[in-house]
Amino acid sequence: MKTNFLYLLILVFTINCSKKNEQTKKNNHKQYITVLGIAQDGGYPHIGCQRTCCANFYNGINKKKSVVALGLVDIENKQKWIFEASPDMHTQLAHLELNHLKKENIIDGVFLTHAHIGHYTGLMYFGREAYGKSNINVFAMPKMKDFLQKNGPWSQLISLKNIVLKSLQHDSLMVLNNKLKTTPFKVPHRDEFSETVGYKIEGTKKSALFIPDIDKWKTWDKNIIEEVKKVDYAFLDATFLNQNEVKRAMSEVPHPFIQETVDLFKNESLKTKNKVIFIHFNHTNPTLQKNSKERTIIEKLGFRFASEGDNYEI
Ligand SMILES: [Zn+2]
Ligand SMILES: [Zn+2]
Ligand SMILES: [Zn+2]
Repeated sequence: MKTNFLYLLILVFTINCSKKNEQTKKNNHKQYITVLGIAQDGGYPHIGCQRTCCANFYNGINKKKSVVALGLVDIENKQKWIFEASPDMHTQLAHLELNHLKKENIIDGVFLTHAHIGHYTGLMYFGREAYGKSNINVFAMPKMKDFLQKNGPWSQLISLKNIVLKSLQHDSLMVLNNKLKTTPFKVPHRDEFSETVGYKIEGTKKSALFIPDIDKWKTWDKNIIEEVKKVDYAFLDATFLNQNEVKRAMSEVPHPFIQETVDLFKNESLKTKNKVIFIHFNHTNPTLQKNSKERTIIEKLGFRFASEGDNYEI
């Protein structure tokens, strides 16, 4: 009995140590991107879904997944930014605080992509009902900015000075500090309330592309393969695996299927394929789950999948 207990103690200690080592190894970069959320706007589990995909959350097989967001951390300059204000932003900012960089102001800036619910509604947490402090920088494109200024409850965040809107321009480089810069660029998407942008994020060592939402690669005036080749990482829209995934008309919600992106890159080198990191998964997409056979097959071809907690040096 005593020996068994000792064995258990050693085992627990060993597991804890190896976990810690892994985390330190992951976090020893000076500037890096950290994945804070990977799900499509509706999150995982998804409202109204009782099918296997979401039943597997309620029966304890799969964990909750946060809505898409990337953290950008500069340990050297003690600064941090978040790309996207997702409905899970309250916990995502806590992750940044607890696991990455603790400092007095909660965030140095929020970069918005567009006015769909998974990408800006987290701003609500900055208001009087929740955080209620002042002068949080929110970076937005002209139509996005206009939308926030003209519509409640967002306009109140501005009038109460909870947030300060900062203007972004298409293809215009923004210097964040002496190590980091970012450039927003417009992409075709269902722009009911705002334009939609992706971001290029550049550090001194590496660079990344972030395109969580786009209609189809062929409707963009840039060539995705060429754009991926120019960077080290490309976090790309992976809403659906293929066209059989959901019953609703796919033309209502166009996205490049993972299968289409994989086909598009099929003649490219392993090095190029390796730069593609899929993100923004619908609850029905089997590749949202780490051990799905569909995901394993695509990983074997050289493509990667974003997971919450992954860090990428920049
Ligand atoms: Zn989205
Ligand atoms: Zn589901
Ligand atoms: Zn969208």
